[in-house]
Amino acid sequence: MPEIPDLEAYATYLNKRLPGLTVVEAEAPIAWIVRAGREEFLQRMKGQTFKPVYRHAKLLLFPFESGDFLVVHAMLAGRFQYVEPKHRRRSKTAWILHLDNGMDLRYFDDRLMGRTFLVREEEFAEHVPRWTEMGPDVMSPDLDEDGFVAVMMKGRGMIKNIITKERMVAGIGNAYSDEVLWEAGLHPFRKRTDIPEEDLRKLFHAIRDTMAWATPIVTELTEEKGLPVRMYRDHLRVHKKGDEDCPRCGHRITSIKSGGSETNFCRGCQE
Ligand SMILES: [Zn+2]
Repeated sequence: MPEIPDLEAYATYLNKRLPGLTVVEAEAPIAWIVRAGREEFLQRMKGQTFKPVYRHAKLLLFPFESGDFLVVHAMLAGRFQYVEPKHRRRSKTAWILHLDNGMDLRYFDDRLMGRTFLVREEEFAEHVPRWTEMGPDVMSPDLDEDGFVAVMMKGRGMIKNIITKERMVAGIGNAYSDEVLWEAGLHPFRKRTDIPEEDLRKLFHAIRDTMAWATPIVTELTEEKGLPVRMYRDHLRVHKKGDEDCPRCGHRITSIKSGGSETNFCRGCQE
């Protein structure tokens, strides 16, 4: 699933290319992914001019000069392509925007779990699921250390579950939750009520530092190799590094799988 550094990298990549371009024609081969419906999508997208793309939580937002937005929740397998029209279409291509510079912006989703919404900003609350229930974006400049601690104090249960819960703070997924907890030296299964406030403050900075470290790495890889099908994750320190050595203390990294997702951490330096 694309997470904060991945989505920020998409935005940077697309913003070098899309702003100012206009949609000549739209297609929606898998129209039910688009919550506006095929006819409305095709009609309403024609003639739209791109403004800069940005991320909010795990959503990528494409604003247009008309005031319309495409809001994309890519879920596990939603991916973008910016390619020439002759480029072979992937079978699970859900929508295509033909642009006035001769290129295509495409969205495909091999698991067909993602969703695209064509809405105006005032309709986000009504049409984008969970928009109003979402907690603050974890990178928001409006969220400071005290605000983060206040949100965490409302959480019950294991710290990994709390920081990945969109209702608490939005944007952290499974991969980067492992990374930020490693950075903070916190065991992912530790109960929030057992964590002193001082360590929650440390966690806030670990989150910001980890994203600030990973985002330029992923951004550079995206520019160099293109928009990814598989996320660029080789740089991570613990996630999916089970049985490798912890880069901080040398202890063997633990891997625990449950319900299709994997948690990795170091028993040597995460308490
Ligand atoms: Zn370690």
